Amino acid sequence: MTESILKDRELPDLTNDEISRYSRHLLLPEIGVEGQKRLKAAKVLLVGTGGLGAPLALYLAAAGVGTLGIVDFDVVEESNLQRQVIHSTRDVGRPKVASAKDRIKGINPHINVITYNTMLTSANALDIIKDYDIVADGTDNYQTRYLVNDACVLLGKPNVYGSIFQFEGQASVFYAKEGPCYRCLYPEPPPPGLVPSCAEGGVVGVLPGIVGCIQANETIKLIVGSTEYSNNTACSLIGKLLLFDAWKMSFRTLKLDKDTQCPICGKTPSIHELIDYEQFCGLKKQADEEPVEIITAKELKARMDAGDSLQIIDIREPHERAIAKFPNAKPIPLGQMARRVDEFDDKIDSVFICKIGQRSVFAIRALREAGYAGRLLNLKDGFNAWAREVDTSLPVY
Ligand SMILES: [Zn+2]
Repeated sequence: MTESILKDRELPDLTNDEISRYSRHLLLPEIGVEGQKRLKAAKVLLVGTGGLGAPLALYLAAAGVGTLGIVDFDVVEESNLQRQVIHSTRDVGRPKVASAKDRIKGINPHINVITYNTMLTSANALDIIKDYDIVADGTDNYQTRYLVNDACVLLGKPNVYGSIFQFEGQASVFYAKEGPCYRCLYPEPPPPGLVPSCAEGGVVGVLPGIVGCIQANETIKLIVGSTEYSNNTACSLIGKLLLFDAWKMSFRTLKLDKDTQCPICGKTPSIHELIDYEQFCGLKKQADEEPVEIITAKELKARMDAGDSLQIIDIREPHERAIAKFPNAKPIPLGQMARRVDEFDDKIDSVFICKIGQRSVFAIRALREAGYAGRLLNLKDGFNAWAREVDTSLPVY
């Protein structure tokens, strides 16, 4: 076996305990003692311990990857438990990195776990990633995905990528030394709000399990190495994009080429350091953009109790309204907003409701663009804020 990511590394010995624990790996010619020693020597950074990070951490720990770094700034929420199988019901409210570390140690006490209870940013990414051999990206947003990509290209590390939405998943290995990077595939992020997140669009719980396991498998192969890997990467996802549809149960693999014009890994790169990824992804307010006025759930309740006349517009989808209704709200789907502008009375305030207060901003912008002159208010943090702060008999979803 040749061409492991760790090919020049001095390898540790395996103890008798470790030989027993990993015997099913040792019996595989593709892994064997040498491959298992490489796994023990390897350092893998997991960005995110959510849906994808959970199976990644569980399987890489079980496989004996010697050092696992885990980065996450979130705490465990009840709505995570449907898919983030590394966390337990009793962990709700704990930092995800703490909960994940406990579980990893429970599976394999031989593993060294390093936790970063922080958001990965342009300020800390190079510093955190530089000590690792491989990064496995389990993030759920574009700004972190581009950040991870760029940091890995700049540091020469492979980036084992996965992403999920509803029933569809993608996986690849972006390794600029050997093939394309994420920017070669997606030079620009989509406009903000165009692609809903899993928090808004949903995701079947098994999907990140499958995609995260594919990422874990790719990570193990990069560490162990193989003859095929040295021969034009035949059995790795370098230079390939795997598309998986859990509803149709189909796998497709597309060939990916390196973009010679890629701004970070092409022939004449224009990016030589990390940039402002919020700005790159269009998440910063433009200077000429009129700000959207917000109203909190408690302020809205007070106005409703005082008998103010308000137009409350629920822009959520019918299947979301089936989960829980908002009191006295008129449903108007986002796509119909501009052409139903005549249904609004511009002498009274309108309040817009969605699940978490993000899609409703687009409803307000659509009405403004349609020339509506009345006052438009966005319910801060959406229906879920109302369910948390005002009417706790309603579910948070
Ligand atoms: Zn590239």
